[in-house]
Amino acid sequence: MALELENYIRTIPDYPKPGILFRDITTLLAAPDAFGETIARLSEPFREADVSYVVGIEARGFTIGGAIAVALGAGFVPIRKAGKLPADTVSQEYELEYGTDTIEMHTDAIRPGSRVLLVDDLIATGGTAAASISLLRRVEADIVAAAFIIDLPDLGGMAKIRELDVEASALLEYPGH
Ligand code: AMP
Repeated sequence: MALELENYIRTIPDYPKPGILFRDITTLLAAPDAFGETIARLSEPFREADVSYVVGIEARGFTIGGAIAVALGAGFVPIRKAGKLPADTVSQEYELEYGTDTIEMHTDAIRPGSRVLLVDDLIATGGTAAASISLLRRVEADIVAAAFIIDLPDLGGMAKIRELDVEASALLEYPGH
């Protein structure tokens, strides 16, 4: 029987600030059965999709992205916060609730026309994923889909990604913030 992945995700109220329910996946990653099932369920829809690269968003997207890449026989490419990648980068600023943030990817990380799967642990407003899609389009990647463990549908991120014409899915949904 399939594991109830919700049982492995810990909720920390008021972190990192009051009113936020932080969905902590470190407890899921530490449980081999649950981690394995998460990777299997995220990979399964893309087994025949001819994915060349799995692109993971810093930092929790690296953990699941690396494992999905191995499962799919694909390479792994990181999208990082500004200033962390050593070679030439493309960069994209995006809006946060207060202020802005910038993410970057190596300019030569992906061959133009390659099929890529974008992954992160959680989608909230979709700002980070939308900025990642913009980076991927600038290097002419062919985005197969975006996949997440958790969606917070009340924050509208998934709808935003679909408006960008990217197929998007998540294993779990949590109401609220
Ligand atoms: P967003 O750009 O609003 O979709 O936020 C997504 C990013 O912020 C992801 O990398 C998440 O890991 C992190 N994040 C946002 N909200 C939460 C939350 N409630 N619990 C855990 N991580 C979150």
